[in-house]
Amino acid sequence: MIPLRLPAAIEAERPFVTRIEDAGARPAGKRRFQSWIVGDDVFGLALAGDQGLFTIDGIQASQVVGDVLLVDPIRQQAERLIRADSLHNTLLVTERCDQLCQMCSQPPKKTHEDRFELLRQASLLAPEGATLGITGGEPTLYKNELFDLIEITLGERPDMSFHVLSNGQHFEQHDVGRLRNPAFARVTWGIPLYSSAASEHDAIVGKPGAFERLHQSFGRLVEAGARVELRTVVLSSNAFELPALAKHIVWRLPFIGSWSVMQLENIGFAKNRWSKLFFDHRANFTPIAEALDRASLHALQARLFNFPLCTVPPAYRSYAVRSISDWKQKYVAACDDCSLKPRCAGFFEWHSGEHANAWVRPE
Ligand code: SF4
Repeated sequence: MIPLRLPAAIEAERPFVTRIEDAGARPAGKRRFQSWIVGDDVFGLALAGDQGLFTIDGIQASQVVGDVLLVDPIRQQAERLIRADSLHNTLLVTERCDQLCQMCSQPPKKTHEDRFELLRQASLLAPEGATLGITGGEPTLYKNELFDLIEITLGERPDMSFHVLSNGQHFEQHDVGRLRNPAFARVTWGIPLYSSAASEHDAIVGKPGAFERLHQSFGRLVEAGARVELRTVVLSSNAFELPALAKHIVWRLPFIGSWSVMQLENIGFAKNRWSKLFFDHRANFTPIAEALDRASLHALQARLFNFPLCTVPPAYRSYAVRSISDWKQKYVAACDDCSLKPRCAGFFEWHSGEHANAWVRPE
């Protein structure tokens, strides 16, 4: 797994954001938000910048040049917020959430640490053309701060875009005007919908009334011209309902741009509930196939996330994308000689090797 948090020794009094520059690129004078490598040995790096000196353990210059770090003297840690060579950079804006999904991969916390100003500074340092993910918790619990972050960043960086994961519970009528700001044309909202039946969706997200509230939000988002990607995690409780959900999307939510059907991630709440929640699509792909066929018939772009290719019938493999972020992606030993590997999502780092080895069929 690629390390995102690195032990560091930092003299500064407050957390700061900085981009790591190669020593050879150092210009005369100080530059804001930049730190230059002044020492590089087997133990790690020494860096100097406008915020002072700090060292990072256990990493080499070639691994981090161009990365944007949040350097935290309280935790004595450097967090790699944006990795220069990654397409999977995601900013965590809060760990609070007002839903309690059965399979939540990152169970919510009651406390909130406001990092919006630091994350805004980091976003402005992202590589040319970057798409940054924003996640939580529920980012729209801090809607004003979130909208500010998006508007300021995209106002200064017309080359960039955001993909925001949200439970879609907090879009109000008075947000529509703001969401029409041209900056939001470069934002995709990734919003989960788990069933066409209100009771089932509400049970999965642990919040009565969530389905109705979500559909009110959809109305506001469509009025604002927002781009929405629907997300559905496949569970044993909703798998057979997927064809009905596909029908619901194409008839009731025709403005939806794309639909991501996602296999379960074995972490967070799902780790201890795996045997209850996991739907083995290799043993029965029929409901997923019917849902994909229905989506395709109505020109709804559907994709399969977190589906190892060899577990998907050949006729449906074109739907499966390499969805797992590079820093948490793994393959098992059996994958080594598989011809499908270059196109395959593989597994999450924390997926049970025992399950994966028994499940895969290398080709
Ligand atoms: S054997 Fe491994 S690499 Fe090949 S398709 Fe299956 S999971 Fe992917």
